[in-house]
Amino acid sequence: MKRAGIRVAGIVQGVGFRPFVYRLAKAYDLTGLVFNDAAGVWIEIQGEETAIKEALAALSAEAPPRSQITAVEVRALSLQTETGFVIAPSPSGSKRMTLISPDIATCPDCRRELLDKRDRRYGYPFINCTNCGPRYSIVRDVPYDRPQTTMVSFPLCPQCQREYEDPLDRRFHAQPNACGDCGPSYQLLDGAGTCVGGEDVLAACRDRLGQGTVVAIKGIGGYHLACDARSELAVKKLRQRKYREEKPFAVMCGSLTAVQQLCFLSADEEALLTGPAAPIVLLRRKPLDSLARAVAPGNPCLGVMLPYAPLHYRLLAASDVLVMTSGNVSEEPIAYKDEDARKRLAGIADYFLVHNREIHCRVDDSVARIFDQKPYLLRRSRGYAPAPISVGKPGPAVLACGGEAKNTFCLTKEAQSFISPHIGDLENQEIFQAYQETIEHYKRLFDIQPQAVVCDLHPEYLSGKYAAGLDLPLVKVQHHHAHIASVLAEHGCREKVLGVAFDGTGYGPDGRLWGGEFLLADLTGYERLGHCRYLPLPGGAKAVREPWRQAAWVMQQLYGDDFASWQPGFARQLPAGAQLVLQATAAGINAPLTSSAGRLFDTAAALLGLRLYNTFEGQAAIELEAAAGSKTGCVLPYELTAANVLDFCPSFAALLAQLQQGRGRAELAADFHATVAAATEAVVRRLARQCGVRTVALSGGVFQNMTLLRQLVERLQGDFTVLVNRQVPANDGGISLGQAAVARERGW
Ligand code: ZN
Ligand code: ZN
Ligand code: FE
Repeated sequence: MKRAGIRVAGIVQGVGFRPFVYRLAKAYDLTGLVFNDAAGVWIEIQGEETAIKEALAALSAEAPPRSQITAVEVRALSLQTETGFVIAPSPSGSKRMTLISPDIATCPDCRRELLDKRDRRYGYPFINCTNCGPRYSIVRDVPYDRPQTTMVSFPLCPQCQREYEDPLDRRFHAQPNACGDCGPSYQLLDGAGTCVGGEDVLAACRDRLGQGTVVAIKGIGGYHLACDARSELAVKKLRQRKYREEKPFAVMCGSLTAVQQLCFLSADEEALLTGPAAPIVLLRRKPLDSLARAVAPGNPCLGVMLPYAPLHYRLLAASDVLVMTSGNVSEEPIAYKDEDARKRLAGIADYFLVHNREIHCRVDDSVARIFDQKPYLLRRSRGYAPAPISVGKPGPAVLACGGEAKNTFCLTKEAQSFISPHIGDLENQEIFQAYQETIEHYKRLFDIQPQAVVCDLHPEYLSGKYAAGLDLPLVKVQHHHAHIASVLAEHGCREKVLGVAFDGTGYGPDGRLWGGEFLLADLTGYERLGHCRYLPLPGGAKAVREPWRQAAWVMQQLYGDDFASWQPGFARQLPAGAQLVLQATAAGINAPLTSSAGRLFDTAAALLGLRLYNTFEGQAAIELEAAAGSKTGCVLPYELTAANVLDFCPSFAALLAQLQQGRGRAELAADFHATVAAATEAVVRRLARQCGVRTVALSGGVFQNMTLLRQLVERLQGDFTVLVNRQVPANDGGISLGQAAVARERGW
């Protein structure tokens, strides 16, 4: 007989770890106990030595799917007199490190039961277990226990109660456990709020979707607006009602087979699609698919997800494809409260498929793609938040307020960071309200009292104003430093690196709009070693929506005032007031200077006549990348000054000249990508030589451009360690993590 004490660290709480240990002890005929404490899980097992050894091996090998063991330490204990194995309460006084699991897609076991006519939950659209189901979205408060979730209004029936209390059952302590007898249910309402659909509301909903109507569907983290993705009429109707011109819609496919009919799918992409987070995955479309053109007009990629809630399996047959877009009017936060949804979506949805389980926290679908065989996040939300991301060593608690667009915030505690789900663009009152509420909720859930608050340097960001209004020491972190720091924090990199931060714009300490930056940086600080040449943004923020503005300025520089005759395709699309805008720019009126790399792609797209007006953020750049396709481009001329200022105006001149000579737009789009990659490589090599740095970090929204990212990484990776964002997005959704990491490193 032996007794072993086992310390297990990692993500081991709220993932079915204690019942797993209980079953293990039973299987190996061991006595002892298991409990959660601040450091993770503590186990004591007693029995035959071989049985203990085998149980230990199984502990790591068979751990629950959602757990992540980082360390197992074993030590010998003296024998105890005991008869069984118990799940013991957490020791009192031990400060629990609360972890709330993200919402998890329906697991294979539940899926099987859902489709099994003999199962008592056959067809039940809220089926879940310890390994799957809603989590974060239903939690009101901690500890994570049924009374603290929105399941509190559904008392368990005797059968569910039995499962809930049986450590050998898959639903032991599964807080959202429910069945058709005791749990939530769906209703189908028409526009007037009258129940329709009779006995089988889900079948009725399916029929109505088949008839081309738009249905607002209450799901896990909010409402979706759904319609048949193969019906041109239905999709166009949804676009008109939602005021969404051309921004692509995501779709949900009924099966992997349906996905493969629409898109090319690698093994890594398949794994991401079918994984527990079940994000929207951006996939390359096959030519001539059966989708309505209006789903993602002119876009070579399609955002695809698979069913992730049991409801979805009921709504979609294997071959079905539905548009599933967030339930909001453009620019507003996604609706998740019933009454609010009924009001805001009234003009959009013909029907409402609603359920009576309250969503406590709004959480949008996450968006990801595969880059270099690993997930690369574009929006980190459902399925990911609020899982912690390690920030290395323990440090003080800080609140990092993030940026403005695609905002997230980040709270740290000891060695962990808790990043919010995607909040949205902090430019209207509803989103700002949601932002503040979510911060308060996170502070309560994770028991964090920040000792400092961090924000961007930008004087106009609402997140910065919010930060300044708190009674805490305020740390300001430059936008692009935060981008690079997010990469460093993720990778636990403590050395000085060469950071390439390419994005739309961020506030520079010189008062200009930065966005094409070469920084020698670590977590404590940065030095700006180089940047893209400052060019004016004629009309300021308007130039972001209207790429013709900077393009026209470039043309004027190259050809003088009668520039329009040089590129008729471009000139034809110019508005009447174009010359006035350029005159104002020449006079320095409303034409801030920017080193933005993002604008360069917009400008190139406009110069090529591909797109002069954006109907959504990044559209021109996306279409430039689409035009380039997989063609290998030629490197055009560019200029790099002794002071490391990188100027692409020579490239623009070459684009226009070659267009004149009849070279195709697609080839030129490819050339422009190759040029930016080659020029960036040249700057990196020069600077790396000067400062003896071997690690390069790439971040910023421009690195959502896969063509640029791939080419640049290929050019650098032989000679440098190249780090990119993996756990947070390279866009502004990632900067809260970078801000937090810098503030903790710097102190204040
Ligand atoms: Zn399950
Ligand atoms: Zn029940
Ligand atoms: Fe940015």
